Order: sequence, then C-alpha cells, then structure tokens
Amino acid sequence: MSSRGGGDGAANAGADEVLAPVLARHEWPARPLAGQPLGVDLLNTRWAAGGVDYDLFEHDELTAAWLVDRKLRQAAPLPAVRAHLREARDALAEVIAGRDARARLNAVLDHGRLRLALGEHGPVEHEEFDDPAAGAAWTCLRAYLRLSDAAPGRIRRCENPDCVLHFHDVSRSGDRRWCSMAVCGNRLKARRHSARVRGR
Ligand SMILES: [Zn+2]
Repeated sequence: MSSRGGGDGAANAGADEVLAPVLARHEWPARPLAGQPLGVDLLNTRWAAGGVDYDLFEHDELTAAWLVDRKLRQAAPLPAVRAHLREARDALAEVIAGRDARARLNAVLDHGRLRLALGEHGPVEHEEFDDPAAGAAWTCLRAYLRLSDAAPGRIRRCENPDCVLHFHDVSRSGDRRWCSMAVCGNRLKARRHSARVRGR
C-alpha cells in the first residue's frame, strides 16, 4: 500500500526550479518533498539527510532562490525577511506539534491584512503589510491557515522521530504517516522488526 496520495506528482513538477541548481552548486542534496503546499513547504525548508541537518535559511542565496520558486516577493533586505520566516516556521512547527504557540504565530499574522475589492474582472484581494519584511512569512502562514481550514488534521509531521519533514496528507484514507514510505516508512519498519527479532 502506498502512503502517498494522488496529486503529489503534479504538485512536485518544477517545484524547486530555481533552487535545485543552487543547491547543487553548494553540493547540498536535492530537497526532499519539494512541492508541498506553501504553508507546509515553509516547514520543509529544513531537513535531515545522511545524518546532516540542512536549513535553507542559513544561506542567503538558497533563501533567495526559495523565495523566487515560491513566488514570494523579497520586499525588504533579506536578513529581515528571513528573521520573520524563521519565526513563522518555528511557531508553526510548535503549533503542529500540539504546543501552544498561537500567540507567536498570531504575532507574525498581525503584520498583514487583506483588503478586498471588486475589480474589473471580479473580486480581488490585496495583501497589505505594516512591515514589508514580514510579507513572505505572512503569506506562508495565510496559506497554512487556508489549508488547515479546508483539511483539518491533514497537515502532520513525519512519524520518524529523526525526520523533521511535514506533509499535507491527501490520501483518501487520511492515514499517511511518513514523508516518504521509501525513506522513513521502510526504515522505521525495519528498525522495529529487528527490535522484535532481538527481543525474542
Ligand atoms: Zn520522514
């Protein structure tokens, strides 16, 4: 049984178009699970592979490339944009882990507003920020709020305790447990199996 739901493949297409070659230039591995919805993708800017922790936001060039791929405007100097992204990412990870970090999350959201209008071709939404540096983080969190509203409980962290990746579970059964069956699912199953064998 596959734990991956339908639609992942399409969402993955070209997800890290600008970022991938920059990662390669830095001799970083390709980012796993690229192509998740924006609110989840913010969380997956850090990952672990081969015992090494990676964080896109530790690198100016990688952060800038990620912003381009996500179509997020860099409307202020990068360090300020990144500080808000980091805060949003940390707060969101806490919230998903079930810890009370809503005040932190809401502090980021407080930097932005939606102004609604009727345009020539229908309704339009304008995003407005009191601090342009917070725009990218705000947009990520807004995407998360929309997604969690449409699909409650479907945004989860991979069950492999060594893995920090998150995913939007689009499987019909809603019981996806791992970022990837191949990477984390099988590894954890193998570990549990050998623990059982040893315990006999
Ligand atoms: Zn995983």
